[in-house]
Amino acid sequence: MPESRNPSVAMHLDLSDADAEFLADVRAFITRHWPPSVRRPRPVTAPDGVPGPAENAWFRALAARGWAVPHWPPEHGGTCWPAARRYLWARETALAEAPDLDPCGVQLVGPLICALGSIQQQRRWLPGIREARARWCLAWSEPEAGSDLSRVATRAEPSAAGYRLTGMKSWVAGARHAGAMLCLARTGGAPEPAGLSLFLLDVSLPGVRVEPIVTLDGSAGLANVDLDGVDVPAAALLGPRDGALEVLARLDQLGPAEPVLAPRLQVHVERLKSRAAGDQDLARQAAALEVEVAGLEALELRILSQQDEGRRVPALVAMRRLRQVRVVQRLGELQVAALGHYALPFPDVLLIDNEGPIGHDYALVELADMLRGRSWSIDGGTSELHKNRIAGTILGF
Ligand SMILES: Cc1cc2nc3c(=O)[nH]c(=O)nc-3n(C[C@H](O)[C@H](O)[C@H](O)COP(=O)(O)OP(=O)(O)OC[C@H]3O[C@@H](n4cnc5c(N)ncnc54)[C@H](O)[C@@H]3O)c2cc1C
Repeated sequence: MPESRNPSVAMHLDLSDADAEFLADVRAFITRHWPPSVRRPRPVTAPDGVPGPAENAWFRALAARGWAVPHWPPEHGGTCWPAARRYLWARETALAEAPDLDPCGVQLVGPLICALGSIQQQRRWLPGIREARARWCLAWSEPEAGSDLSRVATRAEPSAAGYRLTGMKSWVAGARHAGAMLCLARTGGAPEPAGLSLFLLDVSLPGVRVEPIVTLDGSAGLANVDLDGVDVPAAALLGPRDGALEVLARLDQLGPAEPVLAPRLQVHVERLKSRAAGDQDLARQAAALEVEVAGLEALELRILSQQDEGRRVPALVAMRRLRQVRVVQRLGELQVAALGHYALPFPDVLLIDNEGPIGHDYALVELADMLRGRSWSIDGGTSELHKNRIAGTILGF
């Protein structure tokens, strides 16, 4: 059945009656709990802001409806939606520019706890993620261990309480507002590559010091985290002791979310196109980007449907990431070019002078998006590592 609620982001979907009913239900839910009056342009890249009252009300509505964590196993709050519905949900929330729950907790830490955690760990940590009460960060990298996590030097030594963690973590996204962290530490002897373990811990524990780093976008979204003899109970260990590298190597199979980005990118491309009227060069570049987004969408849909069949092709996942990075970075460049001198590098100066931002309401979002987008080819694994993965799985290198 053709559908075109938002003619500017048109797509033809052949839906069964049941799926059409689902779609109507989703739209009614979104309109009720994320009404047009609270909507505003949202960045593509995840910001580290603190949710306001409207966002918190949306998160509460999601939890109450049982739609907060669709991809989790049903016993932990998942919806068992097939790929088509997961895609419809991603698309409708993107069109409404609805906020996402804490991506670190919902997409990665939660699924890991579902897959590897004890019943006690699942009871302790999962409700906070599902109900948007607790935000998480990943403390894996260190100054000398980024792409190669086998070089992690943070130690977790046995203690009377369980383990004592000591070391320095770097580039921890979201640490400033996180209540909990998933930390990678050495339980075996150094410098062997094996002997690493994962720990779930409260950021408020004595000995944890978060030192925010102000980045080019003006935010303090990253931090160094100093672990100075942090005592955690034995129950903080997630998964097998000394087995973290094996866990990370098969992360894809442990149920992390499949981030669907294309619909959100389409919203931004439409905005860009509407500004390109009269500027043929920009219009041409926006149209080329639109084609790239359509290609990304096809890839995302393919990965989603393969997941339903219980198949996962690691090379496709790496290809999707590379394509997402390329599109996000290109979009950022074009958006900033379109903004011209309204792309404000230092909006704080205007705020200090009580002038408020000038230009369009999306100017601040888009400049920050462009700057944060640059880091997409580094965080979550660099582009070179994703290419290695493609070469490894397809070419057998
Ligand atoms: C914005 C941002 C957010 C981040 N968030 C987090 C976070 O929340 N938690 C966390 O733990 N870490 C985080 N990181 C750290 C991130 O995971 C690392 O920066 C990344 O893994 C790269 O490690 P590195 O910086 O040590 O670079 P290196 O690993 O030293 O790499 C340097 C260069 O060498 C290349 N290279 C390395 N190994 C290979 C190889 N085998 N083949 C080909 N090329 C190679 C890399 O591609 C890169 O170009 C974040 C980083 C950024 C920039």
